Amino acid sequence: MRAFILTGLLVCSLFTQAQNLPSVSEEEVNRVEKTLAADDMEGRKVFTSGIEKAAAFIIDEFKKAGLQPLNGSKDFKQSFTMIEPETLEVEATIDGQPVDKKNLVVLSAATSLTITPGDHYQKIVIKSAADFRPVLFKYLDSKENVLILVDTSLSRSFARMATMKLPQFEGLGNRVLILTATDPQQYNIQFKQKIIRKELTNLVGILPGISRPEEYVIFSAHYDHLGIGMPDQNGDSVYNGANDDASGTTAVILLADYYHKLHNNQRTLVFAAFTAEEIGEFGSSYFSNQLNPDKIMAMFNIEMIGTESKWGKNSAYITGYEKSDMGAILQKNLENTQFTFYPDPYPAQKLFLRSDNATLAKLGVPAHTISTSKMDSEKFYHKQGDGVETLDLKNMTEIINAIALSSGSIISAGDTPARIKL
Ligand SMILES: [Zn+2]
Repeated sequence: MRAFILTGLLVCSLFTQAQNLPSVSEEEVNRVEKTLAADDMEGRKVFTSGIEKAAAFIIDEFKKAGLQPLNGSKDFKQSFTMIEPETLEVEATIDGQPVDKKNLVVLSAATSLTITPGDHYQKIVIKSAADFRPVLFKYLDSKENVLILVDTSLSRSFARMATMKLPQFEGLGNRVLILTATDPQQYNIQFKQKIIRKELTNLVGILPGISRPEEYVIFSAHYDHLGIGMPDQNGDSVYNGANDDASGTTAVILLADYYHKLHNNQRTLVFAAFTAEEIGEFGSSYFSNQLNPDKIMAMFNIEMIGTESKWGKNSAYITGYEKSDMGAILQKNLENTQFTFYPDPYPAQKLFLRSDNATLAKLGVPAHTISTSKMDSEKFYHKQGDGVETLDLKNMTEIINAIALSSGSIISAGDTPARIKL
């Protein structure tokens, strides 16, 4: 028994000595996490001064970690505009009959529109509930002009969608949705709206690759959260989002510092703090469309790693584990450690497509989210109580170190995970 332990110790120390690796300290995790989740960040809600304060802090940390801005950006800011429309007037007839206002939705950046069959909008018909969401999501980001006819059997889904006032990207097509039982041959749609333009900002920095600078590996998390709401029973009104996702943002910042010290990345490493995850993953969606997906070898998205996973300490799960061999590669690189990456234990929650990895995964990139969140029982998920005092920062430090070590053969270009086919 003793001999066995000694051998174990020897192997362990040789392993760390031979690699001579830097490591992320709990003290630093504590400092960054507490700053991001402090009450004075006001819950980091989009379009507030709180999120701007968080952005300034992250930029400062990116600078300290020795990152460089991504092509053309200044100060690590990747800003983009979203529009918030407010309908002023809408009037429509189909085959000579007036359409009830609540049965018509126009998604457009135009302030005034008149649409008739002469405009040759592509017609899309949605007959079943199974088609409603996929078609809607396909055309939410579409540059085409489309007339989407939604069958009256889907009136409840239509009404829900009509009241969701989500911001939209600029530069998209005119998308008109009508709840109708017919396929109209004649129609006339008149529409006027007021547009408010608002800026959102991702924060992106890179460490250029030594031998393969044109190949990217991404480390990301979202830095926005839910802001300030009503006080809970403890009088707490700030949604600190310590776990969601100050923990992931802390990991991204400290990984940047780790790889800078390691100074051995053959591929270019991209560190991204995304905005607007909580209102529809707009930040990661914009970011993902700025890079050539074929050049992205892997994405480590990190979301909620501050609490222990359902398996306890020294473990985390990877969403979409079975969709590429990235999880297996990471685990192989952790062979001599106590740490385990498991497949996502909550498949019914569809986490793989519910986080900031989704856009790139759909484009074929091995893009996965690493998390420990117990999605069936996480007590403070989206609650005011999601504060630093509920996190296990020692375990979180171990997780960040495990991500650092497990990524070794991917950043050195020794391993390239398989592409994802959805
Ligand atoms: Zn959230």
